[in-house]
Amino acid sequence: KSGFVSIIGRPNVGKSTLLNHVMGQKIAIMSDKAQTTRNKIQGIYTTETEQIVFIDTPGIHKPHNALGDYMVESAYSTLREVDTVLFMVPADETRGKGDNMIIERLKQANVPVILVVNKIDKVHPDRLLAQIDDFRTQMDFKEVIPISALEGNNTDKLLDILKGNL
Ligand code: GDP
Ligand code: MG
Repeated sequence: KSGFVSIIGRPNVGKSTLLNHVMGQKIAIMSDKAQTTRNKIQGIYTTETEQIVFIDTPGIHKPHNALGDYMVESAYSTLREVDTVLFMVPADETRGKGDNMIIERLKQANVPVILVVNKIDKVHPDRLLAQIDDFRTQMDFKEVIPISALEGNNTDKLLDILKGNL
C-alpha cells in the first residue's frame, strides 16, 4: 500500500523537522530562519508493506517577490498531487492571517486535511486544547493530532493514522 502526503504551513512551524524525524535523518534543512526550505523535498517512508511519500514544502507566506511567489505556489501545487495534506500549525502561536490564507486554499482543494498541532512541548495542555478548538471552527479536518516533531511525541500516532488511510 502506498500514498502521498504533503506537509503544508507557515514558515517555521516545524515541517522540515517532522520530515526529518519521520525519516530518521536530516534530509531537509531545519532552521529558525524563515524560508530555509525553498523547494519541495521528498522523503520516502517504507515498511515491509507500506510506502508513504512525504513532501516537505516551503513555508506559505505573503510573497514579496518572484522567488517568494514561486515558493508559495510550489507548496500549494502539492495539493493537487497528494492523497492527504498535513496542515501544520504551532501550538504556541495563535491563528493568524497567514493561517487563514492557507485555510482558504485548503477548502478549495478537494483533499483530506489532517491538522497537525506541533511544538506541544512548548505549551500547557489548556492552551493546546484552545488552539485545537479555534482551528476546528474554521474548517473540517479529517483528523487533528498534537505532536512534538522535535521530541518525537505522538509522531508514531500520526504515522499510524496515515497508514490507516492508505
Ligand atoms: P519549517 O520552516 O516549518 O520547515 O520549520 P523547521 O522544521 O525548520 O523548524 C523551525 C524551528 O522550530 C527550528 O528551530 C526547530 O528546531 C523548531 N521546532 C520544530 N519542531 C519543534 C517542536 O516540536 N518543538 C519545539 N520546541 N521546537 C520545534
Ligand atoms: Mg522547512
